Amino acid sequence: VKADFVKLTTPNGFTYEQPTGLFINNEFIKSQGGETISVEDPATGKKLVDVQSGTKDDTNYAVDCADKAFKTSWSTQDPKERARVMFKLADLMEQKKDLIASIESMDNGKALRLAKGDVQISIDFIRSSAGLADKLDGRSINTGDGYVNYTIREPVGVCGQIIPWNFPLMMLTWKIAPALAAGNTLVLKPASPTPLNALYFASLCQEAGVPAGVVNIIPGPGRGVGETLTTHPKIRKIAFTGSTGTGKGIAIKAAESNLKKVTLELGGKSAHLVFDDANIEKTLPNLVNGIFLNAGQICSSGSRIYVQEGIYDKLLPALQKYVEEKVTVGSPFDETKFQGAINNKMQFDTIMKYIAIGKDEGAKILTGGESIGKDGYFVKPTIFYDVREDMRIVKEEIFGPVVTISKFKTIEDGVAMANDSEFGLGSGVQTESVSTALKVSKMLKAGTVWVNTYNDFHSAVPFGGVKQSGYGREMGIEAFEAYTSVKAVRIKF
Ligand code: NAD
Repeated sequence: VKADFVKLTTPNGFTYEQPTGLFINNEFIKSQGGETISVEDPATGKKLVDVQSGTKDDTNYAVDCADKAFKTSWSTQDPKERARVMFKLADLMEQKKDLIASIESMDNGKALRLAKGDVQISIDFIRSSAGLADKLDGRSINTGDGYVNYTIREPVGVCGQIIPWNFPLMMLTWKIAPALAAGNTLVLKPASPTPLNALYFASLCQEAGVPAGVVNIIPGPGRGVGETLTTHPKIRKIAFTGSTGTGKGIAIKAAESNLKKVTLELGGKSAHLVFDDANIEKTLPNLVNGIFLNAGQICSSGSRIYVQEGIYDKLLPALQKYVEEKVTVGSPFDETKFQGAINNKMQFDTIMKYIAIGKDEGAKILTGGESIGKDGYFVKPTIFYDVREDMRIVKEEIFGPVVTISKFKTIEDGVAMANDSEFGLGSGVQTESVSTALKVSKMLKAGTVWVNTYNDFHSAVPFGGVKQSGYGREMGIEAFEAYTSVKAVRIKF
């Protein structure tokens, strides 16, 4: 049964047709279970629209369609054709980019200013991936024994992709683009609080001429749609972004079912180091982008700041003043505001709980420490200092606009404190010294080191974690390769 399109108007005045159905085999259809997800506006707490919530049967149907499309169209055609469709998709997104950014802010609560950047990164990444479609290259290997040896890269097959709510569009394109470029087909599950742009994106796939069954998008519960994908015998790879606990469960189930490939982008508690020779003026915006961008709901947030003792007394008052002046909080659609709303009530409650824990643990507050207003989910940018390294606010991921500041003496002390974490996603270094930058970048245990910048992503540069922040990489050639397997051919004459 065909599902409805609902006319929605974004708070900044774009009226558009929001698809509300499951996107399977190029159609928006109703769920067989009759359940829906109520989507709300985090800035007001009011309901926006109901979308269909998929079941196990819906998911199985989508996997069958993706399997058929993999075998009959997408993986077998000329790769230039895949690239052509992907470039068309990127062009359609470019034409609609202000609307897409507005949907993102309305659904997620993030500042529109930031959402516009997310959309641009997403478009750039689709184009970058499309350019790889005809570069599924192997290598020839000279074994010196008279054999001819070479490798070829092949797509893995049907992929299941599961994403969180903090970057609904960017996480979707980071997953879909390399999978498509390499010739895979897929079923993607958006996070329940943020399905709107995923379904809108599906309508652009239709318009761009992506063949039926290649891209399927099913909102629904993690324990329903998510688990069906994870355990499905026809799915050959799961790409997951979300919390470490959920990621571990997925790795186990994926192995037990059919040993499918797994890539995991998980949580973090990333350290941001400021050395004595840092330029304070350049450092302040980097620290702020590190922790208050997207209201701190970034897996790589620089949520532990470590400041060397020689600059500590100067940096803290400067940071307090800068944050109180610049990190303004309010409606996502007020483009003068730096920070919008927290995405959902559960996350808002978690953040407020951690702020209370920090106060109980005896940490001092430099600024913030409370929520704002009664409607929607707004939290003041919050900085704790005089913390101990064993405090829960220093150890555990908060996933909100809350940061701790600790003091260190030598480079070795600072790095040891930074590395004392079960996570290893991002990390930051603020210094004017090339040798400190190089030395510390080598010593930090993290998937990314940002020097004199932070949370600064580029479509060609891989992103991902070590330790309990996961494995596998998003973006760059690494993401593309992670959607392929290598076949070796050895010929005897
Ligand atoms: P989550 O793990 O609860 O959910 C993520 C997704 O997994 C959602 O779509 C959810 O429905 C689904 N899911 C839940 N249970 C599942 C199950 N048993 N089987 C299959 N799927 C299931 O995380 P969240 O609350 O949506 O997102 C916040 C977390 O994600 C944070 O911990 C954050 O650090 C992490 N994150 C990491 C990255 C990264 O790139 N490393 C990016 C964004 C968010």
